[in-house]
Amino acid sequence: MDEASLAKARRQLIAKIEEEARETQFWTGRAHYSERVMTALEKVPRHEFVLPEDQPYAYVNRPRGIGHGQTISQPYIVALMTDLLDLEPTHRVLEIGTGCGYQAAVLAELAFRVFTVETFEELALTAAARLARLGYRNVEVRHGEGYEGWPEEAPFDAIIVTAAPTAVPPALLDQLAPGGRMVVPVGEPGATQILTLCRKDAAGHIDRDGLLPVSFVPMLRRDHRR
Ligand code: SAH
Repeated sequence: MDEASLAKARRQLIAKIEEEARETQFWTGRAHYSERVMTALEKVPRHEFVLPEDQPYAYVNRPRGIGHGQTISQPYIVALMTDLLDLEPTHRVLEIGTGCGYQAAVLAELAFRVFTVETFEELALTAAARLARLGYRNVEVRHGEGYEGWPEEAPFDAIIVTAAPTAVPPALLDQLAPGGRMVVPVGEPGATQILTLCRKDAAGHIDRDGLLPVSFVPMLRRDHRR
């Protein structure tokens, strides 16, 4: 694809996301996502993150396979989850489930530093190399256990979980800063999950809102891993 077709495909994707944001406002409470989030989505070269044979479909508003039975999330879902974090340029963000690194790149456009944890070593290594090649210097990728978060770098102003646990992992709630926001799809594997927004107030009290039915790959337990 040449630059002009890429730019056109990206603009069409942005229009699709805006349409889906309006259609889902009843659940999400947000009819529009912030200018900063939409600009980041228009900027990040999604075709660099999908498998080579999927490049022609990189800007279609759909999830795609990335190997190891894992997926790169649908762009609309990336936009919604990112918007719900209310990121500021000073924020430190934790992501669980690096996958191909696309969501991490979007976060890196909006926050100060991004820490992202991936359970499959090969995905972690590939994503780290890709993000470095594309010039993202404020992202750190760790091959590790998402249920444990990244205690050495806590607390985080925002946490985003891109695989579905059956309950919100307690270590992640602990690592959320006062005033922080966490977005996580919660539910049983194979069933519809509920995209959940957790907010921690200044006193450490947690508020939870179930927003929208979503479909994510399960957050794996160590004993289920190959
Ligand atoms: N954010 C990714 C999409 C992730 S798909 C992107 O933009 O491409 C979910 C990812 O979570 C997969 O890569 C999967 O391997 C990872 N994952 C699943 N269980 C995990 C766990 N317990 N700890 C860390 N990562 C996990």
